Amino acid sequence: MAESVELPSRLAILPFRNKVLLPGAFIRIRCTSQSSVKLVEQELWQREEKGLIGILPVRDAAEMASVGSVLTQGSDPGERSSKIQGGTSDAHKLEGKNQQEVFHWHKRGVAARALHLSRGVEKPSGRVTYTVVLEGLCRFSVEELNTRGIYCTAKISPLEMTKAEMEQVEQDPDFITLSRQFKSTAMELISVFEQKHKTSGRIRVLLETVPLHKLADIFVASFEMSFEEQLCMLDSVDLKVRLSKATELVDRHLQSIRVAEKITQKVEGQLSKSQKEFLLRQQMRAIKEELGDNDDDEDDLAALERKMQGAGMPSNIWKHAQRELRRLKKMQPQQPGYNSSRVYLELLADLPWQKASEEQELDLKAAKDRLDSDHYGLVKVKQRIVEYLAVRKLKPDARGPVLCFVGPPGVGKTSLASSIAAALGRKFVRISLGGVKDEADIRGHRRTYIGSMPGRLIDGLKRVGVCNPVMLLDEIDKTGSDIRGDPASALLEVLDPEQNKTFNDHYLNVPFDLSKVVFVATANRAQPIPPPLLDRMEVIELPGYTPDEKLRIAMQHLIPRVLDQHGLTPEFLQIPEDMVKLIIQGYTREAGVRNLERNFAALARAAAVRVAEQEQTVPLNKGIDKLTSPLLENRLAEGAEMEMEVIPMGVNNHEISNTFRIASPLVVDEALLEKILGPPRFDDREAAERVATPGVSVGLVWTTFGGEVQFVEATAMVGKGELHLTGQLGDVIKESAQIALTWVRARTADFKLAAAEDLNLLEGRDIHIHFPAGAVPKDGPSAGVTLVTALVSLFSQKSARADTAMTGEMTLRGLVLPVGGVKDKILAAHRYGIKRVILPQRNLKDLVEVPAAVLSSLEIIPVKRVEDVLEQAFEGGCPWRRQSKL
Ligand code: ADP
Repeated sequence: MAESVELPSRLAILPFRNKVLLPGAFIRIRCTSQSSVKLVEQELWQREEKGLIGILPVRDAAEMASVGSVLTQGSDPGERSSKIQGGTSDAHKLEGKNQQEVFHWHKRGVAARALHLSRGVEKPSGRVTYTVVLEGLCRFSVEELNTRGIYCTAKISPLEMTKAEMEQVEQDPDFITLSRQFKSTAMELISVFEQKHKTSGRIRVLLETVPLHKLADIFVASFEMSFEEQLCMLDSVDLKVRLSKATELVDRHLQSIRVAEKITQKVEGQLSKSQKEFLLRQQMRAIKEELGDNDDDEDDLAALERKMQGAGMPSNIWKHAQRELRRLKKMQPQQPGYNSSRVYLELLADLPWQKASEEQELDLKAAKDRLDSDHYGLVKVKQRIVEYLAVRKLKPDARGPVLCFVGPPGVGKTSLASSIAAALGRKFVRISLGGVKDEADIRGHRRTYIGSMPGRLIDGLKRVGVCNPVMLLDEIDKTGSDIRGDPASALLEVLDPEQNKTFNDHYLNVPFDLSKVVFVATANRAQPIPPPLLDRMEVIELPGYTPDEKLRIAMQHLIPRVLDQHGLTPEFLQIPEDMVKLIIQGYTREAGVRNLERNFAALARAAAVRVAEQEQTVPLNKGIDKLTSPLLENRLAEGAEMEMEVIPMGVNNHEISNTFRIASPLVVDEALLEKILGPPRFDDREAAERVATPGVSVGLVWTTFGGEVQFVEATAMVGKGELHLTGQLGDVIKESAQIALTWVRARTADFKLAAAEDLNLLEGRDIHIHFPAGAVPKDGPSAGVTLVTALVSLFSQKSARADTAMTGEMTLRGLVLPVGGVKDKILAAHRYGIKRVILPQRNLKDLVEVPAAVLSSLEIIPVKRVEDVLEQAFEGGCPWRRQSKL
């Protein structure tokens, strides 16, 4: 570090254009202009001991801001100016350009000494240049500038304080405060600097060893600063001014470093993250390429976007979908949520927002024909469907009620619905609601749930791919409600034409228009359907078929269909009518025809096996073998058609197909039936066997499978007079049992059922009543008369008639009240081979629904009172009365 320097009175002046050299700073310059080269040569190069030169800032006229301490010269300093800091490449340009410009010489400069000198020769011009490293030493003031020589010289006077002056200032309290301030700011800057460059200590030493007035210059000189600020620093001759100026500048620099650091940190963070992602992606792509795995996510997303564009979403939903897609694009495939978001968008793209099957002009006649050809019987039902279609034809957007087919399984509810779809020329989709307890099954789960899915309706629409299908809500009576919400209320919204325009599936989270869907529902029973839902529907009952109807359905529809499904024709399998009857009676006991169809299928499978076996043993293409000639082979080899060759040779198609035929069709007879289906499962003797012991009666009940014959068993044993009931009974049926028992006990005396001294029927015994098929839940009041009959049979030890079945609710006073499901019950009795049916008088009106063929085979006995029932239920009238007569 330079100590105080002896300044000569004259100095050669090197002008610095728009640049300041401060004391304590180092600078490396390259001198190329004639004047500067001359100056270096004469003042520095050729001297033994390195001399001093003066560095004087020069300001362009354009740069000139504050006037005052500036000397203005009309000279041509361009010739003399040097480019500094090695930036020499455009020195020529600068010189040429500045020829005519006016320069302002600053009044104060800094004396500098050359620390290093080197000489070079430019090729090919041979011009000499110098590179000089200068150290700024101390300030001087220009007294007189001489610009007439090749380079300038100036008469100068020193500006720095003397030692004594310095010592005096150092005592100044202002100076002390200022210097403390400066030091702490400088210290801060140093720590920042050290942190950044991971150096320590070296600059700190400066702070302790170098006198403050120099340190201020050194610090300021080491930053990049505007020319004005540098000039200002140069002009700060007074120590206090210089310190406060330096503190300000250092502090500013510190702040700017901090801001810059913050920004770089941010930028770097972002940069490194995206760079990392980019790198990983590149690697992934390379790995995929290597594996031959071409499913590129980006391509997939592009395909998804295309699909979404083609989905015809309404504009607001399209916007929503786009937002989601943008989110998806920003995600990594491994990121949680990526997959669910993608599946969601796939759903949006797959849903038929606008896609509809084209509705043809509805041909009512064709629709009727189709219904007739698909379904036997069901005249009224088909009539109602045609009416429904007619209304739709006249007013396509009519908000008619939803058709609901109610009936036991296998009576053709589903197939009727699909016939409606066919008649309307629409697609058909079936949605099973059986066992749906959770509202989310209808409406979907919100997407916040893991594994969330859309509801069944939206799922069905996605499957069917059009927005106007016929949608069958199957088993709508089987929806229950529990803590997970009420599916019925969600269905209510679906079926309400006012609300279903904007059906809101929780998963989808955007409204979907269901108004174009034609809904049809099915149920086994209407009663469990919640009233508000039932209110939206028009119930069409399909009660089940009589054996005759079943026979017709079997012959006309089921057998041809089953054969076709198994690739057979009547030439392979024949099921004669009396065998069909046998199957209906001995192998099925149902209201519908589903089991019947299943039995036919079993026969068809057996026949198919036989045909397949025979195909192997009989050389079926014998005929063709015989015909094969070298000519034919050649033609075949050339791809000619075989038949073409065969026909001219005198064998027609018919004869060839005969060779495929088995010798005789498989005709089903009783033995074969037993072999394939096993022994008959049902016969008419069942009732007789079951009621053989006293205490059993035959009732008729109504279940989801249609009407059923239900036996009631009662028995007595030693006990304390309690009533036990078993067989999955509901409250109503339990009460019926109580009523029946009370009624019987109340009549004990009247009819002398027990000995006079033992009028209490329950004395010393318990009664147990059981309803067989104990696993099937039972409820309802219609078993009242059956219970009484069983009890009377028990107490009188007289068997009830096996050929008589009964139904009817009873009051405590012995009146018989009407019941529901009469038609089904009578059909069931008919199936069981029952001959007599005891029916409440007031139910007689329901008999009009029962097919005449069934009625004619049954004796219907109307009753008003329980006594009438008992009179009819036993051979030879009521056992009590007989006893009472004795
Ligand atoms: P459901 O929906 O009432 O349970 P399906 O519609 O599935 O019954 O009917 C079962 C089978 O019986 C179907 O193959 C159907 O075609 C046939 N079927 C039912 N009723 C008739 C009928 N009246 N005429 C022709 N086939 C019928």
